[in-house]
Amino acid sequence: MFRHMADLRPPSDDLLARLARLLGPQGFITDRSDIEPWLTDWRGRYHGESKVLLAPRTVQDVAEVVRLAAEAHVAIVPQGGNTGTVAGATPPADGTALLMSLRRMNSIRSISTADNAVIAEAGVILSVLHDAAAEVGRRFPLSLAAKGSATIGGLVSTNAGGTQVLRFGSMRNLLLGIEAVLPDGSIFDGLATLRKDNRGYDLRQLLAGAEGTLGVVTAASLRLVPAIAGRAVAWIGLASPDAALTLLRDLEGTIGDSVESFELVPADALALVLRNIPNTRAPLAKPHRWNVLVEAVGLHGGADPVEALQDALAAAFEAGLIEDATIAATDVQAEALWALRESISEAERIDGPSLKHDIAVPVSAMPAFLREERTEVEAHFPGVRIIAFGHLGDGNIHFNLLPPEAEDRDHWIARFGAAASAAVHDLVVARGGTLSAEHGIGQAKLAEFVRLSDPVRLRTLQAIKQALDPHGIMNPGKLLPLAPKPAAP
Ligand SMILES: Cc1cc2nc3c(=O)[nH]c(=O)nc-3n(C[C@H](O)[C@H](O)[C@H](O)COP(=O)(O)OP(=O)(O)OC[C@H]3O[C@@H](n4cnc5c(N)ncnc54)[C@H](O)[C@@H]3O)c2cc1C
Repeated sequence: MFRHMADLRPPSDDLLARLARLLGPQGFITDRSDIEPWLTDWRGRYHGESKVLLAPRTVQDVAEVVRLAAEAHVAIVPQGGNTGTVAGATPPADGTALLMSLRRMNSIRSISTADNAVIAEAGVILSVLHDAAAEVGRRFPLSLAAKGSATIGGLVSTNAGGTQVLRFGSMRNLLLGIEAVLPDGSIFDGLATLRKDNRGYDLRQLLAGAEGTLGVVTAASLRLVPAIAGRAVAWIGLASPDAALTLLRDLEGTIGDSVESFELVPADALALVLRNIPNTRAPLAKPHRWNVLVEAVGLHGGADPVEALQDALAAAFEAGLIEDATIAATDVQAEALWALRESISEAERIDGPSLKHDIAVPVSAMPAFLREERTEVEAHFPGVRIIAFGHLGDGNIHFNLLPPEAEDRDHWIARFGAAASAAVHDLVVARGGTLSAEHGIGQAKLAEFVRLSDPVRLRTLQAIKQALDPHGIMNPGKLLPLAPKPAAP
């Protein structure tokens, strides 16, 4: 089925010497202690190898590295903040690939309030971009818990989602233009901040979500939106995901698209955070089976979001839709509520190994999925604990399985993990859903992606890969399977 034939070689001493001359000591890193932290994925499940870490400073240097690697048929693994959860930025364990960090390409090249756009290099960290936008009275409306480390290049390459997709969409919707080095070393300059551009296939969107398999993103033009005048952050206790979805649609009806975030948190996820993350405390007087974190914002001259949300929640309480709620009175309180939501992944990590599923089904189907499919998984894998949290308004839930309490976790995952994940993914597909809503495929989801994909989708992705990267040097073994080497004649 796969036409792409990766015929890759390890980097020769000659290639390494040329790269060392090109990048200099700061860009050609050989000190083991500087390389080591970047060889393992964020979850600590995949370990790679690379004798050098390449850290170019300019797009010209990236282009020259890729040109030399292409000539020598040597693989390149682009890496940003290494916060991806599917091990897409982890190099292969045999040490044959060159690990290329874009973190030193971290300039904000321009920011324009007239265009409402910013041009940021790949290595700019998301929280740095947030601050830069705020300084000129604008916002970059994409945020996620890894904002202190995730980079623009990684966010573009995974088409990251996060907590504001409800209103602004994922990274793709905020991407106005792109600069990238293609697998032959040529530079594609598509950075112009055009709002309209109908010159055929959209190369910008092809590179977005490509997980580094079609080239190296070196910079992106991104949409900015007006700064907010105020925000209201509420923590709400309620009985079920059905009630939560009804609440979301009611809020949209009453306070419109000022609702930017609507995050579902079950009681067991909150309990995990309170147990494992220091300085956290329960937001409501007593536990509720389900919770929702809502953020609504107000623009200058618009309605006060706190008053609007208060009124809407009072009506929801009267109607019996919600059981309890608290609205943050200060920014510190708002951040404390957000910390409860954003610490769930970290709390899970501290708790021990688990099986992660980043699934989406049509929004309307998610409450039933959380009711019925949950029961089915629990019946097939007795004792398993399901932590299902996240972006209900996008139909995207992180449906994670913790092994039964009495079991050794690694042992249980080794024995039942593949079957349990396959069962979850089968149920998702049966609902018309996807096994990767926002985290991508990387290497962690590859086998399941291939198992469940429509052959037409796979064939088409493979044809695009073959056309742009005929030697298969860009991040091989991620997103698409490596084809076997042709047999020797
Ligand atoms: C606590 C936590 C919470 C998270 N929450 C969310 C969330 O809500 N929503 C969400 O979508 N994700 C989330 N993530 C996942 C992660 O933060 C995103 O996938 C992010 O986009 C990764 O950015 P990065 O710079 O760390 O990329 P990396 O992890 O370094 O790389 C990710 C992928 O992009 C490729 N890549 C990186 N840079 C480039 C480049 N310049 N050119 C080409 N390819 C490149 C890599 O090869 C790899 O395939 C979360 C992660 C953590 C740890």
